[in-house]
Amino acid sequence: MTVSNDDEALILASIDRFLERDVAPHAHALEASDTYPRDIVEQMKELGLFGATIDPEYGGLGLSAVTYAKIVERVSAVWMSVSGIFNSHLIMAAAVQRFGSEAQKRHYLPRFARGELRGGIALTEPDCGTDLQAIRTRAVRDGDAYVVNGSKTWISNSIEGQILAVLVKTDPQAQPPRRGMSLLLIEKGPGFEVSRKLEKIGYKGIDSGELTFDDCRVPVDNLIGEEEGRGLNQILAGLELGRINVAARGVGIARACLDESVAYAQVRKTFGKPICEHQSIQIKLAEMATRLEASRLLTEAAARAYDEGRRCDMEAGMAKLFATETAIHNSIEAMRIHGAYGYSKEFNIERYYRDAPLLAIGEGTNEMQRIIIARQLVERNPA
Ligand SMILES: Cc1cc2nc3c(=O)[nH]c(=O)nc-3n(C[C@H](O)[C@H](O)[C@H](O)COP(=O)(O)OP(=O)(O)OC[C@H]3O[C@@H](n4cnc5c(N)ncnc54)[C@H](O)[C@@H]3O)c2cc1C
Repeated sequence: MTVSNDDEALILASIDRFLERDVAPHAHALEASDTYPRDIVEQMKELGLFGATIDPEYGGLGLSAVTYAKIVERVSAVWMSVSGIFNSHLIMAAAVQRFGSEAQKRHYLPRFARGELRGGIALTEPDCGTDLQAIRTRAVRDGDAYVVNGSKTWISNSIEGQILAVLVKTDPQAQPPRRGMSLLLIEKGPGFEVSRKLEKIGYKGIDSGELTFDDCRVPVDNLIGEEEGRGLNQILAGLELGRINVAARGVGIARACLDESVAYAQVRKTFGKPICEHQSIQIKLAEMATRLEASRLLTEAAARAYDEGRRCDMEAGMAKLFATETAIHNSIEAMRIHGAYGYSKEFNIERYYRDAPLLAIGEGTNEMQRIIIARQLVERNPA
């Protein structure tokens, strides 16, 4: 749903207040101790963030991708981990909203929107991430349930959340393999074990877990769309919004790096003048600002195409690729501009530097984005 400019401005102002009051003062300490931000999550429920893109008919805010991307940018500019808590939750919700039966939507979406039932998507396994058709987690039909066995890794929100959309093989012999893949909503219960919390260089506070399914019984009603063999397509359809969202995270980090660098460069003096008057620093600032602006425009263009229902896999791929590489670039340049303070644990720059590279890996690596873009170029421009 596209909101009016006035409504969007009100929503963004309330997000800014929340970030200033509830997130910014606590981000540094929570990050340093790798603590899940429970109080922040309660505020996010109040703001309706867990239902940001869920249809109002099911209790969500029904925001457009354009407005949603602006929210993700703002949140990520303050603490990227907070965006992860609702982003992958909303990818799970989008799969239910787009492909679920009416009964599944009525059962799950209102609770997702209120943030009572939170989660994410479980695709990656210890042996495969990019090549999802190689997954081995198996779901075997037994009466009115599936019996799930296998393991998943790197799953965001899997420790603090209560439910996941899990990609499984319902027919391992199917050719091509994607025809034997399905998406199951699995709630925590017997046979669903979080075997390990994973340690990371950045993206702290949000939980990344390794999961084991051991004869986990899941009602057949939890098969998204109630038809086997559609899981990979269902999850790939959600990746366009996922990539726009990761691009917006990149814009957020790139902006934070630029803003802090512009401010610092005016107060730090060397050889009798602020460093912003040295040409080598000016070149860095100009490059950071230009890449940031281009990233934001690419992200907005992809989000607009998504909202208009146009095919946007290439556009989302370009936005994701460019904005996330910009986040990495700007974080390194911000560190150089800040000198030793950039390397210090007491300031934000080192956190941006640790968070940014994740964006080149998640939602399809940047190597894969280049492949997607090139394939689309050829497909859309036949000789
Ligand atoms: C902090 C964090 C959170 C995550 N959260 C989630 C989550 O919530 N849910 C989830 O399911 N997963 C999650 N992941 C996993 C993430 O999606 C995968 O790491 C990602 O898809 C890449 O898979 P991989 O790590 O197995 O790398 P691989 O697939 O093994 O790739 C290794 C390298 O090979 C390259 N490569 C692979 N295939 C090709 C090819 N055909 N052509 C060219 N290059 C290729 C890749 O680009 C990469 O550089 C998370 C990961 C991290 C680090």
